[in-house]
Parts: sequence; structure tokens; C-alpha cells
Amino acid sequence: DVDVATARAWLQAAATSMDDHADHLSALDAAIGDGDHGTNMRRGFSAVADKLAAAEPATAGELLTLTGRTLISTVGGASGPLYGSIFRAAGKRLAEPTADLAEALRDGLEAVQKLGGAQPGDKTIVDAYTPAVDALAAAVADGADPAGAARAAATAADEGAQATIPLLARKGRASYLGERSIGHQDPGATSTALIFAALADTLE
Ligand code: ADP
Ligand code: MG
Ligand code: MG
Repeated sequence: DVDVATARAWLQAAATSMDDHADHLSALDAAIGDGDHGTNMRRGFSAVADKLAAAEPATAGELLTLTGRTLISTVGGASGPLYGSIFRAAGKRLAEPTADLAEALRDGLEAVQKLGGAQPGDKTIVDAYTPAVDALAAAVADGADPAGAARAAATAADEGAQATIPLLARKGRASYLGERSIGHQDPGATSTALIFAALADTLE
């Protein structure tokens, strides 16, 4: 389904986006966390870009697995293992000959929920990721082309990230703030929306 060149272009676009938005992501994290989400994501995705420049994964599945491993080993914060689990699970699924990107990304959601225990509404990555994979699957079922389906997913992810503003954080560092976490957009949901936007931009 998704070829290795497309997967490579997506991760490179994501790395550029993390670099462009690092200050914004860290500012969001400064409000309800420790202010490092942007630097964490920039470091991790910059390492991914370096790895992809040096290695020549033969398939999209191998490329996403390498991405996940690299994020786990280079990002110090909670987001490293969480995003790492997403890309590793997606890569593993894409290694199956019949798997498509929508199924692979759905496996990523299951993996991050298994690792982090977050449900929708807990003010985390899951709040952008869940509507994105739902929108992606719905668009594919409606016969949308890959670019249209990815754009629908990116729009849903962005809406999901914005919808974290009124939520009370129940997982991660922001949960220590209790009621004071209300009124701020979740940084991890925001970076998830950027990753889906990078996919849509790549497929256009
Ligand atoms: P740290 O909190 O270790 O500094 P980051 O700042 O890089 O790590 O990442 C914080 C983000 O991680 C949060 O905004 C939230 O979206 C996400 N997050 C934290 N815990 C979880 C969890 N259990 N499940 C899903 N996402 C989580
Ligand atoms: Mg942080
Ligand atoms: Mg931290």
C-alpha cells in the first residue's frame, strides 16, 4: 500500500515540522508540563531524519520500525516511548503484505494505549490520534484517494488537539496539575496533529 519513498518523505516532512514548531510545542508544555515537548520532538525526529539518510530501509514497514526504535532511544521524555510504540506497531503491521496504512496506524493507536493507558478524553496524544484514524478509515471506506483520506485524518487530528483545551489531564505530567490543566491545549495531541498534517502534505 504505502511505498518506502512515500514513508521516507512523510518522516522527513514530520522532522521539518517538528523543527518549525518546536518553540510552540514547548510553550504549550510549559503551561501544563515541564516545557520540553518541542525540544524532545525536534531531537527525536532529527535523529530519525539522520537515520533515514544513512540507512536504506527496503520497505515502508522497515522504515517505520526504524523510526520507532530511533524515537525510543533518542527522546528522553514520556513522548519518546509513546511515539516509538506507535511507529513500531505500525511498521510491524505494514510488514504484512496485505496491510494498508489505515490498519497500520490503527495498530499504532492500540500500542500507545496499551503502553500509556490513556483513553479518549484524558488530554493526551490519544485525543488527536483516535479521531484521525477514525477519519482515515471512514474516508478510505468512502472511496477517498490516499491524499483525500490523509487530509481528512489531519483535519480530524487538529480538531481533536484543539478539543483538548477544556479537558482535565488524567495522564502524564499535566495530570499532576489537576484542575489547573484545564484551559490549555495538550502538547502531545498537538504534535500528533502535526504528524498527520505532514502525511497529508506528503500525499498531496
Ligand atoms: P514529558 O512529560 O516526559 O516531559 P513530553 O513533554 O515530551 O514528555 O510529552 C508530553 C506529552 O506526552 C503530553 O502532552 C501528552 O500528550 C503525552 N502523554 C503523556 N502521558 C501519556 C500517556 N499515558 N498516553 C498518551 N500520551 C501521553
Ligand atoms: Mg515535557
Ligand atoms: Mg520532560
